[in-house]
Amino acid sequence: MARRKKIYEGKAKTLFEGPEPGTIVQYFKDDATAFNAEKRDVIEGKGVLNNMLSEYFMNGLTQIGVPNHFIRRLNMREQLVRACEIIPLEIIVRNFAAGSMSKRLGIEEGTALPRPIVEYCYKDDALGDPLVSEEHIAAFGWASQQDMDDILSLALRVNDFLSGVMFGVGIKLVDFKIEIGRVYEGDYQRLIVADEISPDSCRLWDMETGQKLDKDVFRRDLGSLTDAYSEVARRLGVMPKGATPMKPTLIN
Ligand code: UDP
Repeated sequence: MARRKKIYEGKAKTLFEGPEPGTIVQYFKDDATAFNAEKRDVIEGKGVLNNMLSEYFMNGLTQIGVPNHFIRRLNMREQLVRACEIIPLEIIVRNFAAGSMSKRLGIEEGTALPRPIVEYCYKDDALGDPLVSEEHIAAFGWASQQDMDDILSLALRVNDFLSGVMFGVGIKLVDFKIEIGRVYEGDYQRLIVADEISPDSCRLWDMETGQKLDKDVFRRDLGSLTDAYSEVARRLGVMPKGATPMKPTLIN
């Protein structure tokens, strides 16, 4: 890793210059943060699981024709992705009320929403990623109207895909967050799904028991986060049964 130039260090991932122009290496760390990094810990094995799970979801999106940044996994903690300009918005899609929406609107967690609700937050840690409307987005030029149409379409396709994949393994997709990047191809530009898709950025509840299998386990001190993420990986067949991702011997 010392050979590579670090581009950016975030809370859960570090980005390095990739081997070819237009590529980036995403390194998944074990660091977990919540409540705008007020709560933090190192959860051994989390980075390995998120690397594998994000690969699985991004590959699935590619298979159904949803453009995304994933190129290939390099090792247990790193993946090669396409460089893009990240739109400074967190795109949240909700199928059931939970978290901040439940608090804000007084809707009991788990209430089915009449239709998927898409929300936008402005990506700014210092401000705590505030919820913004399309008026703010247009007025401050964070994305154009065409971008917003494309973002909505991508977000709903990801929602249908992820909901179905999760349903197939007995998990309810309550909500999730994605980030979108802009890439340039000759005279054209287009938007692609970027960042990561993992239990760090989704709410996943077991269909039968309601057990939480996502980062709320960490946020709300509900037990072992790696056990929860390993369960998701095991059900999806991403981790062979009995594999222990926490073992340092598995990490390149
Ligand atoms: N989320 C995320 N990163 C953020 C904020 C939210 O990945 O900075 C995800 C979160 O894991 C959940 C969804 O977006 O799956 C909706 O989060 P919510 O607004 O309810 O946030 P919270 O309850 O964490 O404040």
